Amino acid sequence: MTTVDELARRTHEAFGRVRSDLEDLVRIPSVSSPAFDQAHVRASAEAVAALLRDAGMPQVDVLEVELPDGGKGRPAVVAHRPGPDGAPTVLLYAHHDVQPPGDPAGWTSDPFEPTQRGERLYGRGAADDKAGIMAHVGALRVLGDELAVGVTVFVEGEEEIGSPTFTPFLQAYRDRLEADVIVVADSSNWKVGVPALTTSLRGLVDCEVEVRVLGHAVHSGMFGGPVLDAVTLMSRLVATLHDDNGDVAVAGLASRDEADVDYPEDQFRSDAAGWTATASPAPARSPPACGRKPAFSVIRPRRRPRRGRRAPATATSPLFVVQRRDQAGHSAVTASSTGPPNIPEWTACPSTRTSTSQSTRPRSDVVRAGTPTFQLLESATTMTSASRRSR
Ligand SMILES: [Zn+2]
Repeated sequence: MTTVDELARRTHEAFGRVRSDLEDLVRIPSVSSPAFDQAHVRASAEAVAALLRDAGMPQVDVLEVELPDGGKGRPAVVAHRPGPDGAPTVLLYAHHDVQPPGDPAGWTSDPFEPTQRGERLYGRGAADDKAGIMAHVGALRVLGDELAVGVTVFVEGEEEIGSPTFTPFLQAYRDRLEADVIVVADSSNWKVGVPALTTSLRGLVDCEVEVRVLGHAVHSGMFGGPVLDAVTLMSRLVATLHDDNGDVAVAGLASRDEADVDYPEDQFRSDAAGWTATASPAPARSPPACGRKPAFSVIRPRRRPRRGRRAPATATSPLFVVQRRDQAGHSAVTASSTGPPNIPEWTACPSTRTSTSQSTRPRSDVVRAGTPTFQLLESATTMTSASRRSR
């Protein structure tokens, strides 16, 4: 049986080639956003396929699914190597597409020319997630023929745009992706120099919400006060999502006990790009809690006035989102495609009838979906095990 020392020696030996192959992948600008040339995404899929063939995977294909509207998903790479009879199959996941490079002025070196500064390799995808691909490829190289399991590798090409064809892809290639356990190489290091396993991640649900207000503008000198504008209403709605401690105040989302890991607050602040904000009291967002509790993120709020009107727009989407708050201050958001029965559209908005004592009464706020405004993230667990006692 191969010893840990022997594996460490082989890993050390393999590292130079793993790194140079990573650099070659980073040089392919595989931005999956439709505004960019998708030939590069195809090229990176082919490059990943070649690496997997070279690593001894006998069956390697670049696959995509067609959508009913004729559109196609981004190319994914699926590879398989059978194990001994009756052995379980391990699926290794990563993605080969990357985010757009953004403003060139924000880079100190070419985003698609990997550059070492200090002990870090900089370049778009050098970490997320071409390093994940090379972690899998490196493991296959090091373990060679000694694997006692079947291995399937799935490297998708559209993770950074929300995997729009993920579901049809899984349906189309269900048999080829069947596995007993999945290893995802697409998350951060717990800490430099400390080996760790991420055992679960927060899931994500998002929705678009548009506040419905008046059909036309009214004079604020006459109607201002009792009639609130859309931005104010949205601000009030967003404010109900958290309590005064900064905890999410939406009932029904799962939380877990604090993780048994050592993550000092100053380290957390440093990792969060020098975060010093004090808007949230520390206990609610203390580092161990941030992966164990649900979170609401509000992204891309925008005001879109109707053409020729000063009043913010009404919505056209058929989806209603109804938000309620109970006496204890908990709020819940539910969606309905038929609208809020018995709730007149604009009288249901908070404080549109009266400006006093609304906050102590149960109430319903009605908004309609339409523009991206809310992103709901529901939590599970984060780091455990290996990182715990390693200091
Ligand atoms: Zn990623």
